[in-house]
Amino acid sequence: MLSHVPVLLGSGLIAGSYAFSLQFTSPTTCCSLLGTEFNGESKVFSPQSAEYGPLNTYWTPAAQQSPTCIFTPANTQDVSRAVKLFTRKNCQFAIRSGGHSYNPGWAGIINGVLISLSDIDDVTYDSQTGLASVGAGSRWTNVYGALLPYGVTVLGGRNSDLGVGGYLTGGGISYYANERGWATDNIHSVEIVLAGGRIITANRTQHSELFRCIKGGSSNYGVITKFVLETVDASTPFNAVSMRYPASSTNEVLAAAYNYCTGGSDSDPKSHVIFSASINGTQEYFNNLLMAYNGVFDVANPAPIFEPYFDGTIPNPTPFVFAANTTIKYATDWLSVRQAPGTRYTMGTVSIYADVELFKTLRNIWIAETTPDLQAKSGFFTEFAFQPVGQKWIDFSASRGDNSLGITSPIVVVWTQPRWNSASDDVDMVSYVNRMLGLFEQAAKDAGKFANLKYLNYGGRNQDPIPTYGQQNILRMQLNKARYDPLNVFGRLVPGGFKIPGF
Ligand SMILES: Cc1cc2nc3c(=O)[nH]c(=O)nc-3n(C[C@H](O)[C@H](O)[C@H](O)COP(=O)(O)OP(=O)(O)OC[C@H]3O[C@@H](n4cnc5c(N)ncnc54)[C@H](O)[C@@H]3O)c2cc1C
Repeated sequence: MLSHVPVLLGSGLIAGSYAFSLQFTSPTTCCSLLGTEFNGESKVFSPQSAEYGPLNTYWTPAAQQSPTCIFTPANTQDVSRAVKLFTRKNCQFAIRSGGHSYNPGWAGIINGVLISLSDIDDVTYDSQTGLASVGAGSRWTNVYGALLPYGVTVLGGRNSDLGVGGYLTGGGISYYANERGWATDNIHSVEIVLAGGRIITANRTQHSELFRCIKGGSSNYGVITKFVLETVDASTPFNAVSMRYPASSTNEVLAAAYNYCTGGSDSDPKSHVIFSASINGTQEYFNNLLMAYNGVFDVANPAPIFEPYFDGTIPNPTPFVFAANTTIKYATDWLSVRQAPGTRYTMGTVSIYADVELFKTLRNIWIAETTPDLQAKSGFFTEFAFQPVGQKWIDFSASRGDNSLGITSPIVVVWTQPRWNSASDDVDMVSYVNRMLGLFEQAAKDAGKFANLKYLNYGGRNQDPIPTYGQQNILRMQLNKARYDPLNVFGRLVPGGFKIPGF
């Protein structure tokens, strides 16, 4: 027996809250029912099968789970049949695109079925419309590779190994962000399997509210099987540079960062800079900037926006041009090798308003919290990073009908990301990140520079990004959740991932 109880949240918003007395069907039974449904089609794999291990490999082993079986649909119809079965039989499941989420249980599950979208990875380009159709299980390297012969590309991961599905439904920061906003705002339409297995297309005119909610809504509304994406010209050379400065250059780095975060990115939106610092084991930290330029670039004669980084204004630069007048695919493939899979990893985020003193304070918190006992852990590496979300970025997103993230004025997204080797250090490393995030947030509030957004794609397992989108956006998401998933299938039966409040 199922009952739907509307409740008033503290904010005065109305949300759906669902009380269920239905038991979940045992995962073994769900896998067996799925096996019967797809009998003879080699799409349901048990832990004993040869296919299970490779399908259950994640970018970071910290995200690894042990699903009861793994289902690899070949197309949207397969996803629909499975979701229909799960809805009817009350089977728990998880959805995985590239499996780059570092949070265990987000794109994996312990007792339940894992839907791995890896076989839904077609990429096609329509030169008439200028739109690319991308299967939701693709990785960006395949997408970029398939589109380059047409002289176009799409907004996707800066690391090309990321999956399409999680990245796009979380927002998506790409190298083109200063020109073209969040990647999610470059989606033209989606094909989505709703609870019960119904397949619909959502875009700015059809199911437009759902379309908006998906942009930042992660897995809360259904399984997206296809993204139709706007493309951008890729005929000009693409450049990317890793800049290194010693710790002694920090004040100048942060002064340049402040300029870039307060109008710099808008003054030349073809530019892109991530300001980071890293500590490798017990070594001293250094500043490491990831810079990119969508256009011709020459270290000896850089675009004006980049001059201070090369002309000695910031002392002791060591540039390493890892993608010299080449393609987005080359630059992002390079990063996927540099950010190789296999180490334990987590991440967490806050957002602030630009302030050079606050940059220093946050940086100092990161250094102080990186204590010698942590540094001594096997494989220890930590990074503190930030980048601006400027006005042009926001304006472009608004021009495409907006999203759910609730950003209306420039902010700076801040994140920290450690790596380590041993599972026995997971608890210490996650509390290290949680401790820093608490201190970052307090410092930002003390400075009067706290911005609400916790960027979903950088959210840690103990963070709750969707409530940071603001009351109006949350209300719209709740209303559409109740409309498109009235039984809360994607909350109740999908235990992992970031959820909409009340669901
Ligand atoms: C090394 C590294 C580099 C990164 N670089 C960037 C970057 O440049 N820019 C950026 O914005 N982010 C970046 N991220 C974060 C990244 O965007 C997220 O981890 C994202 O979730 C990865 O997408 P995925 O498809 O691989 O996700 P998965 O791990 O497969 O899934 C993540 C979440 O999305 C849900 N999901 C996935 N596909 C679908 C679908 N088709 N329908 C419904 N729900 C779905 C899953 O259920 C899960 O909850 C990076 C992360 C790492 C670890």
